[in-house]
Amino acid sequence: MNLETPKKFEFLVSQAHQVATEIFRPNSRKYDGDEHSYPKELDMLAAVIDGMNEGGALSGAGAGAVGSGNGSKAKEKEGGNRNGSNIASLLGLTELCWGDVGLLLTMPRQGLGQAAIAAVADEEQLGRFGGKWAAMAITEPEAGSDSAAIRTTATLEGDEYALNGEKIFVTAGDRAELIVVWATLDRKQGRAAIKSFVVERDNPGLILERLEHKLGIRASDTANFRLENCRIPKENLLGSPEIEPKRGFTGVMQTFDNTRPLVAGMAIGVSRACLERTRELLAEAGVEIDYDLPPHSQVAAASEFIAMESDWEAARLLTMQAAWMADNKKPNSLQASMAKAKAGRTATDIALRCVALCGSIGYGEGELLEKWARDVKILDLFEGTQQIQLLIVARQLLGKTSAELK
Ligand SMILES: Cc1cc2nc3c(=O)[nH]c(=O)nc-3n(C[C@H](O)[C@H](O)[C@H](O)COP(=O)(O)OP(=O)(O)OC[C@H]3O[C@@H](n4cnc5c(N)ncnc54)[C@H](O)[C@@H]3O)c2cc1C
Repeated sequence: MNLETPKKFEFLVSQAHQVATEIFRPNSRKYDGDEHSYPKELDMLAAVIDGMNEGGALSGAGAGAVGSGNGSKAKEKEGGNRNGSNIASLLGLTELCWGDVGLLLTMPRQGLGQAAIAAVADEEQLGRFGGKWAAMAITEPEAGSDSAAIRTTATLEGDEYALNGEKIFVTAGDRAELIVVWATLDRKQGRAAIKSFVVERDNPGLILERLEHKLGIRASDTANFRLENCRIPKENLLGSPEIEPKRGFTGVMQTFDNTRPLVAGMAIGVSRACLERTRELLAEAGVEIDYDLPPHSQVAAASEFIAMESDWEAARLLTMQAAWMADNKKPNSLQASMAKAKAGRTATDIALRCVALCGSIGYGEGELLEKWARDVKILDLFEGTQQIQLLIVARQLLGKTSAELK
Protein backbone atom coordinates (compact mmCIF):
# COMPACT_ATOMS: atom_id res chain seq x y z
CA MET A 1 0.00 0.00 0.00
CA ASN A 2 1.29 3.43 -0.82
CA LEU A 3 0.03 5.75 1.90
CA GLU A 4 1.31 9.10 0.75
CA THR A 5 2.75 11.70 3.10
CA PRO A 6 0.31 14.64 3.24
CA LYS A 7 1.70 17.41 1.04
CA LYS A 8 1.82 19.91 3.91
CA PHE A 9 4.23 17.63 5.83
CA GLU A 10 6.63 16.90 2.97
CA PHE A 11 8.95 19.74 3.99
CA LEU A 12 8.91 18.57 7.63
CA VAL A 13 9.82 15.02 6.61
CA SER A 14 12.61 16.15 4.31
CA GLN A 15 14.04 18.45 7.03
CA ALA A 16 13.89 15.64 9.58
CA HIS A 17 15.59 13.30 7.11
CA GLN A 18 18.35 15.82 6.56
CA VAL A 19 18.93 16.15 10.32
CA ALA A 20 18.94 12.36 10.66
CA THR A 21 21.47 12.00 7.85
CA GLU A 22 23.77 14.92 8.57
CA ILE A 23 23.70 15.18 12.37
CA PHE A 24 22.34 12.00 13.95
CA ARG A 25 24.03 9.27 11.89
CA PRO A 26 27.53 10.82 11.98
CA ASN A 27 27.30 11.14 15.79
CA SER A 28 25.65 7.77 16.46
CA ARG A 29 28.76 5.86 17.45
CA LYS A 30 30.33 8.75 19.33
CA TYR A 31 27.57 9.04 21.93
CA ASP A 32 26.92 5.32 22.04
CA GLY A 33 30.49 4.94 23.29
CA ASP A 34 30.58 8.12 25.33
CA GLU A 35 27.54 7.42 27.51
CA HIS A 36 26.40 10.27 29.79
CA SER A 37 28.24 12.99 27.88
CA TYR A 38 25.86 15.55 26.45
CA PRO A 39 25.60 15.61 22.62
CA LYS A 40 26.41 19.30 22.19
CA GLU A 41 25.81 19.06 18.43
CA LEU A 42 22.09 19.00 19.29
CA ASP A 43 22.13 22.52 20.79
CA MET A 44 22.72 24.02 17.41
CA LEU A 45 19.96 21.81 16.04
CA ALA A 46 17.52 22.93 18.74
CA ALA A 47 18.12 26.55 17.76
CA VAL A 48 17.40 25.71 14.12
CA ILE A 49 14.21 23.86 15.11
CA ASP A 50 13.05 26.79 17.25
CA GLY A 51 13.59 29.09 14.31
CA MET A 52 11.63 26.84 11.99
CA ASN A 53 8.84 26.43 14.56
CA GLU A 54 8.52 30.18 14.86
CA GLY A 55 8.20 30.38 11.11
CA GLY A 56 5.61 27.59 11.20
CA ALA A 57 7.74 25.40 8.96
CA LEU A 58 8.27 22.54 11.34
CA SER A 59 5.23 22.53 13.54
CA GLY A 60 4.95 19.06 14.97
CA ALA A 61 8.46 17.81 14.34
CA GLY A 62 8.62 16.07 17.67
CA ALA A 63 6.88 14.95 20.81
CA GLY A 64 6.77 18.52 22.05
CA ALA A 65 4.02 19.33 19.65
CA VAL A 66 1.49 16.57 20.15
CA GLY A 67 -1.72 17.11 21.97
CA SER A 68 -5.36 16.56 21.54
CA GLY A 69 -5.00 17.22 17.85
CA ASN A 70 -4.58 20.90 17.15
CA GLY A 71 -5.35 20.75 13.46
CA SER A 72 -7.15 23.53 11.61
CA LYS A 73 -10.05 25.06 13.54
CA ALA A 74 -12.14 25.29 10.40
CA LYS A 75 -11.88 21.58 9.69
CA GLU A 76 -12.67 20.86 13.34
CA LYS A 77 -15.99 22.68 12.93
CA GLU A 78 -16.77 20.82 9.74
CA GLY A 79 -15.78 17.53 11.32
CA GLY A 80 -13.54 16.86 8.30
CA ASN A 81 -10.52 14.64 7.91
CA ARG A 82 -7.54 16.22 9.64
CA ASN A 83 -3.86 15.49 9.59
CA GLY A 84 -2.68 17.53 12.58
CA SER A 85 0.10 17.59 15.13
CA ASN A 86 -0.06 13.88 15.98
CA ILE A 87 0.54 12.77 12.39
CA ALA A 88 3.15 15.50 11.92
CA SER A 89 5.00 14.42 15.07
CA LEU A 90 4.78 10.79 14.07
CA LEU A 91 6.28 11.46 10.63
CA GLY A 92 9.01 13.70 12.05
CA LEU A 93 9.99 11.30 14.83
CA THR A 94 9.98 8.27 12.55
CA GLU A 95 12.38 10.02 10.23
CA LEU A 96 14.65 11.21 13.05
CA CYS A 97 14.75 7.69 14.53
CA TRP A 98 15.80 6.35 11.16
CA GLY A 99 18.87 8.44 12.04
CA ASP A 100 19.33 7.61 15.74
CA VAL A 101 16.71 6.95 18.41
CA GLY A 102 19.09 7.64 21.33
CA LEU A 103 19.88 11.11 20.02
CA LEU A 104 16.21 11.80 19.33
CA LEU A 105 15.39 10.95 22.94
CA THR A 106 17.84 13.55 24.14
CA MET A 107 16.95 16.26 21.66
CA PRO A 108 16.24 19.53 23.51
CA ARG A 109 12.56 20.35 23.86
CA GLN A 110 11.37 16.99 22.48
CA GLY A 111 10.73 15.18 25.78
CA LEU A 112 7.61 13.06 26.13
CA GLY A 113 6.66 15.18 29.15
CA GLN A 114 5.35 17.82 26.76
CA ALA A 115 2.77 15.31 25.54
CA ALA A 116 1.59 14.95 29.14
CA ILE A 117 1.38 18.72 29.46
CA ALA A 118 -0.50 19.05 26.18
CA ALA A 119 -2.95 16.32 27.18
CA VAL A 120 -4.07 17.78 30.52
CA ALA A 121 -2.76 21.34 31.01
CA ASP A 122 -5.08 24.37 30.98
CA GLU A 123 -4.42 27.48 28.88
CA GLU A 124 -2.49 29.28 31.61
CA GLN A 125 -0.27 26.24 32.19
CA LEU A 126 0.29 25.78 28.46
CA GLY A 127 1.50 29.38 28.39
CA ARG A 128 3.97 28.76 31.24
CA PHE A 129 5.22 25.29 30.30
CA GLY A 130 4.58 24.95 26.55
CA GLY A 131 7.70 24.66 24.41
CA LYS A 132 10.00 23.74 27.31
CA TRP A 133 11.97 20.51 27.44
CA ALA A 134 9.94 18.25 29.72
CA ALA A 135 10.71 14.71 30.91
CA MET A 136 8.13 12.36 32.38
CA ALA A 137 8.57 10.60 35.73
CA ILE A 138 6.05 7.86 36.39
CA THR A 139 8.10 4.78 37.24
CA GLU A 140 9.10 3.97 40.84
CA PRO A 141 10.86 0.99 42.40
CA GLU A 142 7.46 -0.49 43.31
CA ALA A 143 5.49 0.91 40.36
CA GLY A 144 6.55 -0.05 36.83
CA SER A 145 3.88 -1.68 34.70
CA ASP A 146 1.36 -1.07 37.45
CA SER A 147 1.34 2.73 37.56
CA ALA A 148 -1.61 2.64 39.97
CA ALA A 149 0.87 1.48 42.64
CA ILE A 150 2.58 4.89 42.72
CA ARG A 151 3.75 5.84 46.22
CA THR A 152 5.14 9.33 45.66
CA THR A 153 2.87 11.66 47.59
CA ALA A 154 1.75 15.23 46.96
CA THR A 155 0.53 17.07 50.07
CA LEU A 156 -1.10 20.49 49.86
CA GLU A 157 0.50 22.88 52.37
CA GLY A 158 -0.83 26.43 51.95
CA ASP A 159 -0.21 27.50 48.36
CA GLU A 160 2.28 24.71 47.64
CA TYR A 161 2.38 20.98 47.13
CA ALA A 162 5.15 19.08 48.91
CA LEU A 163 6.24 16.05 46.87
CA ASN A 164 7.98 13.12 48.54
CA GLY A 165 9.07 9.82 47.01
CA GLU A 166 11.38 8.18 44.48
CA LYS A 167 11.35 8.20 40.66
CA ILE A 168 13.51 5.92 38.56
CA PHE A 169 14.35 5.55 34.86
CA VAL A 170 13.45 9.09 33.84
CA THR A 171 14.44 9.64 30.20
CA ALA A 172 16.18 13.01 29.76
CA GLY A 173 15.66 13.53 33.50
CA ASP A 174 19.00 15.21 34.04
CA ARG A 175 18.90 17.38 30.91
CA ALA A 176 15.28 18.53 30.69
CA GLU A 177 14.05 21.87 32.07
CA LEU A 178 10.88 20.40 33.57
CA ILE A 179 9.90 17.02 34.95
CA VAL A 180 6.27 15.92 34.94
CA VAL A 181 5.97 13.86 38.14
CA TRP A 182 3.07 11.51 38.79
CA ALA A 183 2.13 11.47 42.47
CA THR A 184 -0.87 10.61 44.61
CA LEU A 185 -2.94 13.11 46.57
CA ASP A 186 -4.27 10.31 48.75
CA ARG A 187 -3.13 6.69 48.48
CA LYS A 188 -6.36 5.45 50.10
CA GLN A 189 -8.38 6.77 47.15
CA GLY A 190 -6.55 4.68 44.56
CA ARG A 191 -6.04 5.56 40.90
CA ALA A 192 -8.31 8.59 40.85
CA ALA A 193 -6.00 10.40 43.30
CA ILE A 194 -2.98 10.13 40.99
CA LYS A 195 -2.21 13.48 39.35
CA SER A 196 0.68 14.90 37.38
CA PHE A 197 2.76 17.81 38.71
CA VAL A 198 5.29 19.97 36.90
CA VAL A 199 8.61 20.30 38.74
CA GLU A 200 11.42 22.57 37.58
CA ARG A 201 14.61 20.55 37.12
CA ASP A 202 16.57 22.92 39.38
CA ASN A 203 14.14 22.54 42.30
CA PRO A 204 16.38 21.76 45.33
CA GLY A 205 13.92 19.09 46.52
CA LEU A 206 14.48 17.06 43.32
CA ILE A 207 17.69 15.20 44.09
CA LEU A 208 19.55 13.29 41.37
CA GLU A 209 20.61 9.91 42.74
CA ARG A 210 22.33 8.42 39.68
CA LEU A 211 22.36 7.98 35.90
CA GLU A 212 21.79 4.48 34.50
CA HIS A 213 24.21 2.54 32.27
CA LYS A 214 22.21 0.85 29.54
CA LEU A 215 22.14 -1.76 26.74
CA GLY A 216 21.07 0.76 24.09
CA ILE A 217 19.97 4.39 23.55
CA ARG A 218 23.15 5.31 25.40
CA ALA A 219 23.12 8.89 24.06
CA SER A 220 19.98 9.44 26.12
CA ASP A 221 20.38 10.04 29.87
CA THR A 222 18.20 7.98 32.21
CA ALA A 223 17.99 9.47 35.69
CA ASN A 224 16.90 8.29 39.13
CA PHE A 225 15.62 10.89 41.59
CA ARG A 226 14.64 11.29 45.20
CA LEU A 227 11.92 13.87 45.93
CA GLU A 228 12.44 15.25 49.40
CA ASN A 229 10.00 17.91 50.54
CA CYS A 230 10.06 19.10 46.93
CA ARG A 231 7.87 22.20 47.02
CA ILE A 232 6.03 23.47 43.94
CA PRO A 233 3.29 26.11 43.48
CA LYS A 234 -0.14 24.54 43.65
CA GLU A 235 -0.80 25.87 40.14
CA ASN A 236 1.71 23.28 38.86
CA LEU A 237 -0.79 20.46 39.25
CA LEU A 238 -1.91 19.60 35.71
CA GLY A 239 -5.67 19.31 35.19
CA SER A 240 -8.17 19.27 38.02
CA PRO A 241 -7.11 18.85 41.69
CA GLU A 242 -10.46 17.17 42.41
CA ILE A 243 -10.37 13.45 43.10
CA GLU A 244 -13.13 11.99 40.97
CA PRO A 245 -13.38 8.24 41.61
CA LYS A 246 -15.69 7.79 38.60
CA ARG A 247 -13.10 9.19 36.22
CA GLY A 248 -10.50 6.86 37.68
CA PHE A 249 -7.20 7.06 35.86
CA THR A 250 -8.46 8.73 32.71
CA GLY A 251 -6.91 12.16 33.30
CA VAL A 252 -3.28 11.12 33.44
CA MET A 253 -3.77 8.08 31.18
CA GLN A 254 -4.86 10.30 28.26
CA THR A 255 -1.19 11.06 27.85
CA PHE A 256 -0.53 7.54 26.61
CA ASP A 257 -3.09 7.78 23.82
CA ASN A 258 -0.84 10.44 22.32
CA THR A 259 2.58 9.07 23.21
CA ARG A 260 2.18 5.37 22.40
CA PRO A 261 1.73 5.95 18.64
CA LEU A 262 4.86 8.14 18.77
CA VAL A 263 6.92 5.41 20.42
CA ALA A 264 5.54 2.99 17.83
CA GLY A 265 6.69 5.49 15.17
CA MET A 266 10.19 5.48 16.68
CA ALA A 267 10.21 1.69 16.29
CA ILE A 268 9.08 2.06 12.66
CA GLY A 269 11.98 4.47 12.04
CA VAL A 270 14.70 2.27 13.55
CA SER A 271 13.45 -0.86 11.80
CA ARG A 272 13.25 0.95 8.45
CA ALA A 273 16.92 1.84 8.90
CA CYS A 274 17.66 -1.86 9.55
CA LEU A 275 15.76 -2.96 6.46
CA GLU A 276 17.37 -0.38 4.18
CA ARG A 277 20.91 -1.20 5.29
CA THR A 278 20.25 -4.93 5.06
CA ARG A 279 18.90 -4.52 1.54
CA GLU A 280 22.16 -2.76 0.57
CA LEU A 281 24.32 -5.43 2.18
CA LEU A 282 22.31 -8.19 0.52
CA ALA A 283 22.69 -6.45 -2.84
CA GLU A 284 26.47 -6.22 -2.28
CA ALA A 285 26.44 -9.95 -1.59
CA GLY A 286 24.58 -10.56 -4.86
CA VAL A 287 21.16 -11.30 -3.36
CA GLU A 288 18.44 -9.84 -5.55
CA ILE A 289 14.98 -9.13 -4.24
CA ASP A 290 12.43 -9.57 -7.00
CA TYR A 291 8.92 -8.49 -6.01
CA ASP A 292 7.45 -10.12 -9.10
CA LEU A 293 8.49 -13.58 -7.94
CA PRO A 294 6.50 -15.50 -5.30
CA PRO A 295 8.39 -15.95 -1.99
CA HIS A 296 9.07 -19.67 -2.56
CA SER A 297 10.87 -18.87 -5.84
CA GLN A 298 13.27 -16.40 -4.21
CA VAL A 299 16.52 -17.22 -2.52
CA ALA A 300 15.87 -17.69 1.20
CA ALA A 301 17.41 -14.36 2.25
CA ALA A 302 15.25 -12.42 -0.22
CA SER A 303 12.15 -14.28 0.85
CA GLU A 304 12.85 -13.51 4.52
CA PHE A 305 13.48 -9.87 3.65
CA ILE A 306 10.11 -9.54 1.89
CA ALA A 307 8.34 -11.16 4.85
CA MET A 308 9.97 -8.62 7.20
CA GLU A 309 8.96 -5.75 4.95
CA SER A 310 5.31 -6.77 4.94
CA ASP A 311 5.31 -7.12 8.73
CA TRP A 312 6.88 -3.66 8.94
CA GLU A 313 4.18 -2.22 6.68
CA ALA A 314 1.42 -3.68 8.88
CA ALA A 315 3.02 -2.05 11.94
CA ARG A 316 3.36 1.27 10.13
CA LEU A 317 -0.28 1.34 9.03
CA LEU A 318 -1.54 0.56 12.54
CA THR A 319 0.64 3.34 13.90
CA MET A 320 -0.59 5.86 11.34
CA GLN A 321 -4.17 4.92 12.15
CA ALA A 322 -3.66 5.48 15.90
CA ALA A 323 -2.08 8.93 15.35
CA TRP A 324 -4.69 9.90 12.77
CA MET A 325 -7.46 9.02 15.24
CA ALA A 326 -5.84 11.28 17.86
CA ASP A 327 -5.79 14.12 15.34
CA ASN A 328 -9.44 13.54 14.55
CA LYS A 329 -10.50 13.35 18.21
CA LYS A 330 -11.57 9.73 17.95
CA PRO A 331 -10.99 7.59 21.07
CA ASN A 332 -7.81 5.68 20.20
CA SER A 333 -6.67 3.85 23.36
CA LEU A 334 -7.20 0.47 21.70
CA GLN A 335 -5.39 1.43 18.48
CA ALA A 336 -2.59 3.19 20.38
CA SER A 337 -1.86 -0.01 22.33
CA MET A 338 -2.24 -2.21 19.24
CA ALA A 339 0.21 -0.01 17.35
CA LYS A 340 2.72 0.06 20.20
CA ALA A 341 2.52 -3.72 20.69
CA LYS A 342 2.81 -4.51 16.99
CA ALA A 343 5.52 -1.96 16.17
CA GLY A 344 7.61 -2.71 19.28
CA ARG A 345 7.62 -6.45 18.67
CA THR A 346 8.05 -6.19 14.90
CA ALA A 347 10.92 -3.71 15.11
CA THR A 348 12.82 -5.78 17.69
CA ASP A 349 12.28 -8.86 15.58
CA ILE A 350 13.36 -7.14 12.35
CA ALA A 351 16.51 -5.67 13.91
CA LEU A 352 17.69 -9.06 15.17
CA ARG A 353 16.77 -10.88 11.95
CA CYS A 354 18.66 -8.26 9.92
CA VAL A 355 21.73 -8.84 12.12
CA ALA A 356 21.30 -12.56 11.50
CA LEU A 357 20.87 -12.15 7.74
CA CYS A 358 24.05 -10.09 7.53
CA GLY A 359 25.97 -12.54 9.75
CA SER A 360 29.26 -11.37 11.23
CA ILE A 361 29.04 -8.07 9.33
CA GLY A 362 25.71 -7.35 11.03
CA TYR A 363 27.04 -8.23 14.46
CA GLY A 364 30.21 -6.16 14.26
CA GLU A 365 30.74 -2.52 15.20
CA GLY A 366 31.58 -1.72 11.60
CA GLU A 367 27.84 -1.56 10.95
CA LEU A 368 25.12 0.40 12.79
CA LEU A 369 22.90 -2.70 12.57
CA GLU A 370 24.60 -3.96 15.74
CA LYS A 371 23.71 -0.72 17.54
CA TRP A 372 20.15 -0.53 16.21
CA ALA A 373 19.50 -4.07 17.49
CA ARG A 374 20.44 -2.83 20.99
CA ASP A 375 18.64 0.52 20.70
CA VAL A 376 15.34 -0.83 19.46
CA LYS A 377 14.51 -3.04 22.46
CA ILE A 378 13.54 -0.10 24.65
CA LEU A 379 10.71 0.78 22.26
CA ASP A 380 9.02 -2.50 23.20
CA LEU A 381 9.51 -1.76 26.87
CA PHE A 382 8.90 1.83 27.95
CA GLU A 383 5.52 3.58 27.68
CA GLY A 384 4.13 0.15 28.63
CA THR A 385 5.75 -3.19 27.83
CA GLN A 386 4.63 -5.59 25.10
CA GLN A 387 2.71 -7.67 27.66
CA ILE A 388 0.95 -4.62 29.11
CA GLN A 389 -0.14 -3.40 25.66
CA LEU A 390 -1.62 -6.84 24.93
CA LEU A 391 -3.38 -6.76 28.29
CA ILE A 392 -4.92 -3.37 27.45
CA VAL A 393 -6.01 -4.62 24.03
CA ALA A 394 -7.59 -7.71 25.60
CA ARG A 395 -9.42 -5.62 28.21
CA GLN A 396 -10.80 -3.32 25.55
CA LEU A 397 -11.91 -6.10 23.22
CA LEU A 398 -13.49 -8.14 25.99
CA GLY A 399 -15.02 -5.14 27.77
CA LYS A 400 -13.23 -5.98 31.04
CA THR A 401 -11.95 -3.52 33.64
CA SER A 402 -8.39 -3.57 34.99
CA ALA A 403 -9.75 -5.20 38.16
CA GLU A 404 -11.40 -7.96 36.11
CA LEU A 405 -8.42 -8.75 33.86
CA LYS A 406 -4.99 -8.36 35.51
C1 LIG B 1 15.85 3.15 29.20
C2 LIG B 1 14.56 3.33 29.92
C3 LIG B 1 13.93 4.56 29.89
C4 LIG B 1 12.75 4.75 30.59
N1 LIG B 1 12.16 5.99 30.58
C5 LIG B 1 11.11 6.24 31.39
C6 LIG B 1 10.58 7.57 31.54
O1 LIG B 1 11.00 8.52 30.89
N2 LIG B 1 9.59 7.76 32.46
C7 LIG B 1 9.08 6.73 33.19
O2 LIG B 1 8.20 6.98 34.01
N3 LIG B 1 9.52 5.46 33.05
C8 LIG B 1 10.53 5.18 32.18
N4 LIG B 1 11.02 3.91 32.06
C9 LIG B 1 10.43 2.83 32.84
C10 LIG B 1 9.59 1.88 31.99
O3 LIG B 1 8.42 2.51 31.57
C11 LIG B 1 9.35 0.63 32.85
O4 LIG B 1 10.56 -0.05 32.92
C12 LIG B 1 8.26 -0.23 32.31
O5 LIG B 1 7.02 0.38 32.49
C13 LIG B 1 8.23 -1.61 32.98
O6 LIG B 1 8.24 -1.49 34.36
P1 LIG B 1 9.27 -2.34 35.24
O7 LIG B 1 10.62 -2.15 34.67
O8 LIG B 1 9.06 -2.02 36.67
O9 LIG B 1 8.88 -3.85 34.98
P2 LIG B 1 7.72 -4.69 35.69
O10 LIG B 1 6.45 -3.93 35.72
O11 LIG B 1 8.24 -5.22 36.97
O12 LIG B 1 7.54 -5.88 34.64
C14 LIG B 1 8.49 -6.94 34.51
C15 LIG B 1 7.96 -7.90 33.44
O13 LIG B 1 6.67 -8.43 33.84
C16 LIG B 1 5.69 -8.16 32.84
N5 LIG B 1 4.40 -7.88 33.47
C17 LIG B 1 4.16 -6.98 34.45
N6 LIG B 1 2.84 -6.99 34.76
C18 LIG B 1 2.25 -7.89 33.95
C19 LIG B 1 0.90 -8.34 33.77
N7 LIG B 1 -0.10 -7.87 34.49
N8 LIG B 1 0.67 -9.31 32.84
C20 LIG B 1 1.68 -9.82 32.08
N9 LIG B 1 2.98 -9.42 32.21
C21 LIG B 1 3.25 -8.48 33.13
C22 LIG B 1 6.23 -6.95 32.07
O14 LIG B 1 5.72 -6.89 30.77
C23 LIG B 1 7.74 -7.23 32.09
O15 LIG B 1 8.04 -8.13 31.07
C24 LIG B 1 12.17 3.67 31.32
C25 LIG B 1 12.80 2.42 31.31
C26 LIG B 1 13.97 2.24 30.64
C27 LIG B 1 14.62 0.87 30.68
